[in-house]
Amino acid sequence: PHVVCEACIGCKRTDCVDVCPVDCFREGPNFLVIDPDECIDCAVCIPECPEAAIYAEEDVPEDQKEFIELNAELAREW
Ligand code: SF4
Repeated sequence: PHVVCEACIGCKRTDCVDVCPVDCFREGPNFLVIDPDECIDCAVCIPECPEAAIYAEEDVPEDQKEFIELNAELAREW
């Protein structure tokens, strides 16, 4: 799945949510997350993000790997 990372924190834009064909963005405490069970890896959200905060899971930077589990956990709580 795709993963929302650190740069999303505090961003109030929802351009990514608007383009997602399967509506798999969920609201976290101060950033959005992607439900990994719903994401179909279409990648259309990537260029829409003004903060470049969204990555394919295999492209998540080394220092932000914790966001993979964080997206899954927060999506489950939602
Ligand atoms: Fe939605 Fe596609 Fe982005 Fe996954 S990759 S969150 S399905 S827009």
